[in-house]
Amino acid sequence: MTDSGPDLKPDQKDMPNRAVRPVFLDNQSTTPTDPRVVEAMLPFFTERFGNPHSTDHAYGWDAEEAVERARGDLAALIGASPREVVFTSGATEANNLAIKGAARFRKAERPHVVTCATEHKCVLESCRQLEREGFRVDVLPVKADGLIDLDLLAEAVGEETAIVTVMAVNNEIGVIQPLAEIAAICRAKGAYFHSDAAQAVGKIALDATALGLDLLSISGHKFYGPKGIGALFVRRRPRVRLEAMIDGGGQERGLRSGTLPTPLCVGLGATARLAREELADEEARISGLKARLLEGITGRLDGVRLNGSAEARIAGNLNLAFEGVDAEALMRAMPRLAVSTGSACTSTSVEPSYVLQALGLPETRSRASLRIGIGRFTTEAEVDLAIEELVSKVTSLRAKGSAAAE
Ligand SMILES: *Cc1c(COP(=O)(O)O)cnc(C)c1O
Repeated sequence: MTDSGPDLKPDQKDMPNRAVRPVFLDNQSTTPTDPRVVEAMLPFFTERFGNPHSTDHAYGWDAEEAVERARGDLAALIGASPREVVFTSGATEANNLAIKGAARFRKAERPHVVTCATEHKCVLESCRQLEREGFRVDVLPVKADGLIDLDLLAEAVGEETAIVTVMAVNNEIGVIQPLAEIAAICRAKGAYFHSDAAQAVGKIALDATALGLDLLSISGHKFYGPKGIGALFVRRRPRVRLEAMIDGGGQERGLRSGTLPTPLCVGLGATARLAREELADEEARISGLKARLLEGITGRLDGVRLNGSAEARIAGNLNLAFEGVDAEALMRAMPRLAVSTGSACTSTSVEPSYVLQALGLPETRSRASLRIGIGRFTTEAEVDLAIEELVSKVTSLRAKGSAAAE
């Protein structure tokens, strides 16, 4: 990287200008904040800046009212009551609080935790921390389609299980886990069921109460809200008990001390309201774009395969393997597209995605796989550009590959 000097605006320094910005097809990594959400947040940075926990004057009351309205809007989106919503800094914190908080509270009677191999790192690492604290942790495999095996789960969950944590929608392959069935298995054994729903909330209809979830994590920036805010749903009936991780003034019913970031809370509330109003239409529109993309590619290229279940899957995710192509090389050949591989760079090598490996895919197929994430702001023209780029670059990389082999 070159030093571009001190007097450039951040915008010019860090991003090519708008005309040549790559098309953003990585909506599982994050999403742009909806301008309507930004609009709703702005007054709370300036005029309406009160501390929502100040009870002595109108500044505080105003901020508190705004935060509580946001809590209500978020609760309505997930079929919860407002008192079941705890604001956090994001899904990472919500997952840590749910998993460690519940397990530690129940450790004496229930020193066992169950999770799944394709979970987000923050879930797997929270479980690993519990293992270091003396918990027994079972990490269940998934089937070839990325879904959990309910028979294996039923065998693993017992009277000593404090918590089972299985995500709602996978961030790499977009598959939707059978939450109601998992909840029933957990309920029968008295184990709490937590689901990391960072990729699900706002994308699919989700009713935490009806599904029988005990804990559910939400991230604002995964569904067109701001970064740095999320929430944890904590069921009240029957009551789920947690040990707090952050001690202090006792905000959020003692579960998460610290002054709530009013603008971010308001933003998350507005995000939830929009999602609730627009989810069905948006899902249909994104489904259409996904079909267009998939048909556009497979109509012109052979040897393209979808990773993960084709049916139990959100509309906005495609994870495709392009036979005979190295996905890292493909990405480098397509600077006009912002897509991702899900592989992890360590200091010495590029490791294929652990999620794809958990499906039992051969390493060559994992290394040939690309994640394409379609979102609220993706246009048909962008999809068409992506088809052109993918078809031409895959074709030329394959030609080079077979020339090299000769
Ligand atoms: C993004 C993501 C997280 C982390 O969320 P943050 O709000 O960024 O901390 C956790 N789990 C899943 C499945 C995610 O996609």
